[in-house]
Amino acid sequence: MSIELTFTDEQKALRETVARFAKDEIAPVAHEMDEKEEFPTKTVAKMKEMGFFGVPIPEEYGGLGLGKVGYCIMLEEIGKVDASHIAILAAHTSLGTSPLLYYGTPEQKQKYLTPAAKGERIMAFSLTEPVSGSDSGGLITEAKEEGDYWVINGDKIYVTNGVEAGQVVVMAANDVKKGSHGGITAFLVEKGTKGFRVGREEKKMGLHGTSTAELIFENCAVPKANVIGEVGQGFKVAMTALDVGRVSLGAGSLGGMQGALDLALEYSKNRMQFDQPIVWYQAIQFKLADIAMHILALRNMVYQAAAYQDRMGHDVSKWGRTERKQKSRDSAIIKCLASEWASKAITDSLQIHGGIGYIRGTPIERAYRDARISEIFEGTNEIQRLIIAGDLIERGWVNE
Ligand SMILES: Cc1cc2nc3c(=O)[nH]c(=O)nc-3n(C[C@H](O)[C@H](O)[C@H](O)COP(=O)(O)OP(=O)(O)OC[C@H]3O[C@@H](n4cnc5c(N)ncnc54)[C@H](O)[C@@H]3O)c2cc1C
Repeated sequence: MSIELTFTDEQKALRETVARFAKDEIAPVAHEMDEKEEFPTKTVAKMKEMGFFGVPIPEEYGGLGLGKVGYCIMLEEIGKVDASHIAILAAHTSLGTSPLLYYGTPEQKQKYLTPAAKGERIMAFSLTEPVSGSDSGGLITEAKEEGDYWVINGDKIYVTNGVEAGQVVVMAANDVKKGSHGGITAFLVEKGTKGFRVGREEKKMGLHGTSTAELIFENCAVPKANVIGEVGQGFKVAMTALDVGRVSLGAGSLGGMQGALDLALEYSKNRMQFDQPIVWYQAIQFKLADIAMHILALRNMVYQAAAYQDRMGHDVSKWGRTERKQKSRDSAIIKCLASEWASKAITDSLQIHGGIGYIRGTPIERAYRDARISEIFEGTNEIQRLIIAGDLIERGWVNE
């Protein structure tokens, strides 16, 4: 990996714009959104207008063309104030649009990626099922070839943006027995397709601004033209999207850690106990220092990995084995560390707040509930450790 880490003027301008938007538009509505458990329709509409739903997508497909580095800048800044907005953007961009960007045909890019990048259609990604979570290759939603269509039957769960999405990337088994080795295919399914409906919406501990929904497929006929990538190669399509998602989760967590640090600093400088601000107690200072150390380390890791993905480009046929392996290993490392460091930073910040940190309505209390899921979704941290260890066993420690 290159050790250089600099931002262009365009990237710096994006950071300023997003930071202002997060402070002026998202922060004031985050508490009400959380309490009411409502999708933030108004801020999402503004984010669409500002191009936030297509930051890393090339301009020829309606995006801003600011790459993964630009995308991470946006998520880092929004992550400072709210995690629900991050999850909405990331489920759409990392998981929804990446399959089209990397594996879509020119027609699919025109028809589905462009409206997604412009924010005209929100996207979702549907891999998980009641019987297959971590063992995603074991999914049983079936796709059967019938004439010009694939007919999908099955039940998918926990789909972020499932309620709002106008189009969903759905992984289904063209051959259950083959599983991840040639038995899974990725499909683009449009809302309104006969036989496709949204089922139960989950109540959650956090991320109250996002929908997490069941998707039901009953004899849902999807045109063959909507197969993303090759038949049987859907697992690869899903894992490519998750590599993007895991780095973007790192960027959102990085923002969350900075938000937690800012709150802890402000509170501890103002809270008096035993005749002085608590920030002067070493026990508090050590917590602040630990958060800062993790922020610096994570910041470097996230932007190096994002720049690496940008350098690899969007033509998967040109990717070498070493690049692919490094991308997946590094995404897993970042996802794992970022989620655990963010959980620790937010827990420590809450502790610095004392009792008020436990009271509903404080930003740190919301952040605490929101952060927990990052150790679970996009592949649990146990699964990330298996990916990292598997690569170490196969290739040892190699770094380009
Ligand atoms: C809020 C939310 C949003 C989500 N959004 C999406 C989405 O948009 N799209 C989507 O497809 N999915 C989504 N998911 C699903 C999420 O990715 C899964 O919940 C996750 O991958 C874990 O699967 P599981 O819940 O079935 O747990 P399981 O796989 O049953 O795991 C249970 C426990 O066993 C551990 N475990 C399992 N296998 C092993 C092993 N081999 N070695 C060691 N430990 C193991 C796990 O790490 C975990 O601790 C979402 C989930 C939530 C809660």
